[in-house]
Amino acid sequence: MIVVMQKGASQEQVDYMVERVEALGLKSHVIVGTERTVIAAIGEKREQMKESLESGPGVAEVLPILAPYKVASREVKPEPTEVIAGSLRVGAGSLGVIAGPCSVESEEQLIATAKAVKAAGATALRGGAFKPRTSPYSFQGMKEEGLKLLALAREETGLAIVTEVMACEDVDLVGKYADVLQVGARNMQNYRLLEAVGKSPRAILLKRGASATMEELLLAAEYILNEGNPNVMLCERGIRTFESHTRFTLPVATVPYLQAKTHLPVVIDPSHGTGHTYLVPAVAAAGIAAGADGIIVEVHPNPERAMSDGYQSMNFKQFEEMMVKCRRVAEAVDKVIR
Ligand code: PEP
Ligand code: MN
Repeated sequence: MIVVMQKGASQEQVDYMVERVEALGLKSHVIVGTERTVIAAIGEKREQMKESLESGPGVAEVLPILAPYKVASREVKPEPTEVIAGSLRVGAGSLGVIAGPCSVESEEQLIATAKAVKAAGATALRGGAFKPRTSPYSFQGMKEEGLKLLALAREETGLAIVTEVMACEDVDLVGKYADVLQVGARNMQNYRLLEAVGKSPRAILLKRGASATMEELLLAAEYILNEGNPNVMLCERGIRTFESHTRFTLPVATVPYLQAKTHLPVVIDPSHGTGHTYLVPAVAAAGIAAGADGIIVEVHPNPERAMSDGYQSMNFKQFEEMMVKCRRVAEAVDKVIR
């Protein structure tokens, strides 16, 4: 249920209603919107609960939440959420541009990329230090050394850092260096990890699993929100289908669909979604045209030499050209890169 407070309800009234909700054995989640404050009351609904809450001080109405994901739903929070993490702003009209190498490989590679993407208009730097690789024989990432280089790149450029965390026991370590923790496609349904990042003060970029439905993605986000972390971005990075001309199949319809169902910002990843550099700029532009709140793309000084995902990475010039196009599309759909 959602307890909708009256416009201008006092903090005491909100606190009182939170106590009432919890006394009924429900979990409370306060969402302060620009229009109104609501308390999501989550748990098993029993007889008389609605009536009992409705009579509380400062309460406008008590409504059922129909969606299986509660805190993530638009029903609970009609206005869009803007996630702000250092230099990165995503959602509610802000278009975030996250760019950088698939993997952090060296100081030279990372700092050169950070400077180039910043100059071309990126608002955050991506780079994997812990890499989830299909084969155990592939490069697994520089781990903490890579995290240190990412922090150095932030010092040099001011760009917020987005990097993946693969295991519960690494959440604090990665959070020490990063502004945004990425939960990768392979871990979207690692519920212990979702709970662990839900306890982190860092923002989260949650990628869609390659075979996950929209509902599963939203319920995964719900795990994070439920732990008290409100700064969750959802990322469409393509799903596995029978098609083989692209690495994955990236459904652009996901963007407006998710935006209808949730207040959380939606980011599109055309690099993993297509798997081919030459397809990335057009699909990035398509995602923005469809209303995406952010894009995440792979950029490398020399893609042929990349230690991972080079075939889908842009070089600096290609990224710069893509940004010229994306800026124009963003303007057409009233999004600001800031
Ligand atoms: C990545 O961002 O480099 C990555 C491994 O992404 P995904 O989890 O979407 O495969
Ligand atoms: Mn990659």
